[in-house]
Amino acid sequence: MPETLADDTGKSAMPVRVTSLASGSSGNATLIQTDRTQLLIDAGIGPRMLSASLRQYGTTVDALDAVALTHEHSDHVRGLAPVRRAGVALVSTAGTASALDLGEAGRTTLRGMDSVVIGDLTMTALDVSHDAREPVAYAFEHAEARVLLLTDLGRFDDSYLGWIAAADLIILESNHDDHLLRGGPYPPHLKRRVASDLGHLSNVVAADAIARAIGGGSRIPTVWLGHLSDTNNRPSLAVQATVTALARVGRVAPVVALNRGKASPGWSSDPELRPAVQVPLLP
Ligand SMILES: [Zn+2]
Ligand SMILES: [Zn+2]
Repeated sequence: MPETLADDTGKSAMPVRVTSLASGSSGNATLIQTDRTQLLIDAGIGPRMLSASLRQYGTTVDALDAVALTHEHSDHVRGLAPVRRAGVALVSTAGTASALDLGEAGRTTLRGMDSVVIGDLTMTALDVSHDAREPVAYAFEHAEARVLLLTDLGRFDDSYLGWIAAADLIILESNHDDHLLRGGPYPPHLKRRVASDLGHLSNVVAADAIARAIGGGSRIPTVWLGHLSDTNNRPSLAVQATVTALARVGRVAPVVALNRGKASPGWSSDPELRPAVQVPLLP
């Protein structure tokens, strides 16, 4: 049985809303809201921007039911101080908690494949390969929708295919274009780190993964490409890679590259409440 952080009685028919407040090496934070649950994944934007962003989407740090952390890198925890001051429940792996010296109070620890219930959301941690102590990605289940947040990983494991296939909203890292990384200004050790099994996923790997995962199905998920490199990628290249890979398997889906330093248009489990995303045409 997954551990329960907040009451989970009754079913909600209200939509799930997901908002990326920022995505990339300068900061990551994703807000998941239902009528009963306010959950933040990573608090990697500065305290002022975090509180302003939360206010913009109708909530506050104090109103959060929990903050779940993927790993300890500063682009995921920069705004953690006010979260801790407010006594918001923290969910992370033991490795992330010890890397951040989080102590025991108000903290829930999970490992890969553990699930925890937060209000009307069930969140499952997935192990990822990344140069952090014990990094994870998260999958979310709600009566109305399934969402997958899979960023900061250097190697795509085929065990993720089923999670992608089941998701209504897929948030997948599409960090760099291989050519831009190779020919770009990063020093050799940094190029090796980004491209390594402990670094970040390239456009091609992300695109291939999505195509393999949803190629055989008939559902049309929304795809958000996240954690794009400012130096080694372009939003148009990331989107084009995924759209092209999907076209090869006969699929068309809304594909969006997330903004780096600011919020991106949100997603709702109710299609009528979704901002219009142009479905890219088959190339
Ligand atoms: Zn990161
Ligand atoms: Zn990282």
